[in-house]
Amino acid sequence: MNKDEVAIRYKRCPECLTKMTLSSTKCPSCNQKLGEANQHGLAKKPINWSGYLTTIILWIALIYFIWWGFFR
Ligand SMILES: [Zn+2]
Repeated sequence: MNKDEVAIRYKRCPECLTKMTLSSTKCPSCNQKLGEANQHGLAKKPINWSGYLTTIILWIALIYFIWWGFFR
């Protein structure tokens, strides 16, 4: 029997290690959004694209503001 084929019937939250079913998309304990489980049964955190985008836009705005205020 191949070790890699052992069925994982649950996954764990990467934040608080709460066990939940594989189909869960959100931790019932800490509300962390969850993706697929990895081979250790630990759920992956989905990438928060809108969060990254907001951060990048804020940085660009800040850099532009500094340039506009001091270097023009
Ligand atoms: Zn959790």
